[in-house]
Amino acid sequence: GKLTVQLPNAQYDVHVGDHVYELFSSDFRELLNTADRIGIIADDVVATNHLPVLLEALENAGVSPSVKIVPAGEKCKTSMVYIECQSFLLQENFTRNSLVIAFGGGACGDLAGFVAATFMRGIRFIQCPTTILAHDSAVGGKTAINLPEGKNMVGSFHQPSAVLFNTALLKTLPSREVRSGMAELIKHAFITDANWANQLMEERNFSNPSIEWLSTELLKGIQVKADIVAADEFEHSIRKYLNFGHTFGHAVEAVCGFGGLSHGESVIIGMAYSFILSEKYGNIDSSFTNHFIDFAKKNGYSFEPVLNHSFNEFLFYMKKDKKATFGEMNFIVLKEVGIPFVQKVTEIECKRVFNELQLRLD
Ligand code: NAD
Ligand code: ZN
Repeated sequence: GKLTVQLPNAQYDVHVGDHVYELFSSDFRELLNTADRIGIIADDVVATNHLPVLLEALENAGVSPSVKIVPAGEKCKTSMVYIECQSFLLQENFTRNSLVIAFGGGACGDLAGFVAATFMRGIRFIQCPTTILAHDSAVGGKTAINLPEGKNMVGSFHQPSAVLFNTALLKTLPSREVRSGMAELIKHAFITDANWANQLMEERNFSNPSIEWLSTELLKGIQVKADIVAADEFEHSIRKYLNFGHTFGHAVEAVCGFGGLSHGESVIIGMAYSFILSEKYGNIDSSFTNHFIDFAKKNGYSFEPVLNHSFNEFLFYMKKDKKATFGEMNFIVLKEVGIPFVQKVTEIECKRVFNELQLRLD
C-alpha cells in the first residue's frame, strides 16, 4: 500500500509492504541518483538481522552506501552518538547534496533524522522503519535526541523525502516491541474511529498479529498520522491529539526508569487514565474503560506500576511535560471514542483519577 503526505512545503510518499525495497530501483532511483553520497545510519540489532536485505536492494539500484552502525534502541539518541554520526558523514566526504537512510526503529529514526536535519544545515533523508511503533514515528518529521535532563529535548522538524516500511522485517520483532507498537496503532484508532477501535479490541491476534493483517492496519494508522500532520505540521492545534495517553504515559515511562516498560506499554496505561478523565469531561462510559482495561490485560499489558508507585512519583513527571502550565496539566480526552479534545486538569483532579484507576485495576 501507498499514501502521500501532503504538506505546505513538502510532499512525500509512504510505502508499506514486504517488497517495498524494490522501489529503490524504480520509483526512488532518481532520488538516489541526485545524491552524491548515501549513508545508512543503522540500529545495531536491526543491522545484524536485516542489513543485507537493504544493501542488496540498494546495490540493485546501483548504490553502494557508507554504513554507520549505532547502538540499538534508545541508547543511540545521545549527544555522543549524534556527534559521532556527524563526524562520520564528514569523514566520508558527505556534502549538502548527500542523503541519509535511517534503518531501525523509532529511536534510530529520530537520531538519523536529527543528524540529517542539522548536517550542513540540513540534508535529505529516507526513513526505513523496522518496528511497528515506527509507523508512527517515521512519518511527520519530528526528529530528536535525548539529554540527561529529559527525553527529546533537542530536536527539530525535518520531513523525510520518503518512507519505505518493509513489513517483512517485523518477523524478528520481540513480543514486547510488538505490544509497544500496537499501542500506538490503537491510539490512532481511539482518536479517529470508534468502529476501527472496537474491531482492534476484538482482534484475537492483537498481541501476535500476522504480517499480512499488519500491512493494512499500519497503513490505516499512517493515514491518520499523515492527515493530522498535513493539517497541523508544527503542533499548534490538532497534532496534539496524537498525545492521547501520553501525558500520564510518559510519567509511567519515566517512573519505571526507561526500560521497565516500553513506550507503548506505558501509553496503554496512559490511555486507561485518559479514559477515566473522559468519563468526567466527555461522554465515555465507565464500562468502556473497564472493557479497555480487560482487553489490555488479556493482551499482556501490565498495570503493575500504577499499583506499585505513589501518585506523587507520577505527578513529578507530569509537571515536567512540555505542555504543562502552573498547577494544571493538559490532557487529551475523548468526547466520544474518535472525538478528542484538549482538557486542562488540576492536580487534585489528577490525583482523584489516579485513585480511581487503582480501584478499577483490582
Ligand atoms: P526502538 O527504536 O528503541 O527499538 C526497540 C528495540 O527493537 C531495539 O532494541 C531495536 O534494536 C529492536 N528492533 C528494531 N527493529 C527490529 C526488528 N525488525 N527486529 C528485531 N529487533 C528490532 O523503539 P521504537 O519503539 O521503534 O521507537 C521508540 C522511539 O521512538 C522513542 O525514542 C520515541 O521517543 C520515538 N518516537 C518518535 C516519534 C516521532 O514522531 N518522531 C513518535 C513516537 C515515538
Ligand atoms: Zn508515543
